[in-house]
Amino acid sequence: MPTTQPLAQRLACVEQRIDRACREHGRARSEVTLLAVGKTRAADELRRAFAAGVRCFGENYVDEAVGKLDRLRDLDADWHFIGPIQSNKTRTLSARFDWVQTVDRAKIARRLADQRPSSLQPLAVLIQVNIDREPQKAGCDPDEIDALAGFIAERDALALRGLMAIPSAERSASERREPFARMRSLFERLARVHPCADTLSMGMSGDLEDAIAEGSTLVRIGTALFGPRPG
Ligand SMILES: *Cc1c(COP(=O)(O)O)cnc(C)c1O
Repeated sequence: MPTTQPLAQRLACVEQRIDRACREHGRARSEVTLLAVGKTRAADELRRAFAAGVRCFGENYVDEAVGKLDRLRDLDADWHFIGPIQSNKTRTLSARFDWVQTVDRAKIARRLADQRPSSLQPLAVLIQVNIDREPQKAGCDPDEIDALAGFIAERDALALRGLMAIPSAERSASERREPFARMRSLFERLARVHPCADTLSMGMSGDLEDAIAEGSTLVRIGTALFGPRPG
């Protein structure tokens, strides 16, 4: 796809892929949220995406995100943090974001809860799961979900909303559904204990169909929406 292709056209293409996957797998389109991943993109690009109808935005880097959040204050959008969390950044995260999708340890959950301004509604939290148990990857081990979920659920300043995962990229096309299927069963188990958990964040530009097939309720899309990232 040429980078000059207008955003509206790219968005229409992504919407069509989501629609088709939903239809193919017996899902209602309304069950799947499109999150536009804005890392490395200028605030103006996000503003254009908002004008085209996008309402949820994801950011990976706190310092980069804060500048954009300042410039886009006037937009009625939901802001999701989807990057790795350093403990010295939790105060900013807790004050500026609506969702944090990458909570993977109690220490971070405690800081986010303690630092959430009381004027704001509870911070929506997803537990990031290292579903393929990759050594260098963020996310808690699947066996640690229950304990961490219990810890989050006890905090009034946090709202436990579900799970997030980034499966290993080293899979052939025919094997891509398998980690998503394991996430689905972990999510269903979590939701039985925590009925407010309604969000399963999985699927990116290259595999959103496989994720939707296995019950994703939120796909995180960068490249397919904004074109290839520079660098
Ligand atoms: C960059 C990123 C995405 C989007 O990836 P694309 O392949 O560009 O759609 C999704 N989720 C996370 C956590 C990311 O860092």
